[in-house]
Amino acid sequence: MTRTYNIAIDGPAGAGKSTIARAIAARLGFVYVDTGAMYRAMGLYFDRRGIPMDDEEKIRGACPEIEISIRYRDGIQRVLLNGEDVSDQIRTEEVGHLASACSVYACVRQKLLNLQKQLAATSDVVMDGRDIGTCVLPDAQTKIYLTASAGVRAGRRQKELEEKGQFRSLEELTKEILDRDERDMNREIAPLVQAPDAVYLDTSDMAVEEVVEAVIAEAKKRGLKDPGDKMPL
Ligand code: C5P
Repeated sequence: MTRTYNIAIDGPAGAGKSTIARAIAARLGFVYVDTGAMYRAMGLYFDRRGIPMDDEEKIRGACPEIEISIRYRDGIQRVLLNGEDVSDQIRTEEVGHLASACSVYACVRQKLLNLQKQLAATSDVVMDGRDIGTCVLPDAQTKIYLTASAGVRAGRRQKELEEKGQFRSLEELTKEILDRDERDMNREIAPLVQAPDAVYLDTSDMAVEEVVEAVIAEAKKRGLKDPGDKMPL
């Protein structure tokens, strides 16, 4: 069996990872795997069960009750939590924080690691998260560390939320983003850090299409066949 081609994209909250990863996957005919959504589903479960995020013992005890799986509907990833499609419920800032709070625990990360590795072993993927290039897919052919200034990231979040009819101040969103970065970068297990062989891309002043082109150019340098040569999956 030929090896699949894997593109790992890591970076802090609001860096545009999912927009970029989705666009690249569509261009290349790859599968887009959003690992943050899996952590969000875990966070949602603990919250629904009323388990406080600082209670590691209860979280460890509840982990075996959780089954996370993903499906693709019209090419879009859906996340199932014990069979229930929670893809829409998990897209709030609050659930983002729950995900960040529970993702510090080994039991939570372990639960998702195999699923993520397996997806990348069986399909060409663009996978985004915090530890993809460092822990999940250390052998990914292309690794990107995507970032932008905190102000730009908060501005993008504000716009995204506005489109859903939610209005938040830039100050508040900047603070929340920095708090989440702080926790994600300083946790003991699988912290957010640039892999030594990752390409650093600051997208503060780049348009989406420019970033997509830059990532595809990097992947071509690392053995990706021209997208035109590739059959869509
Ligand atoms: O990317 P997203 O904002 O959906 O991720 C939510 C949270 O899940 C992150 O703040 C991070 O704490 C956690 N996460 C992680 N490892 C990943 C993806 C997400 O710890 N690979």
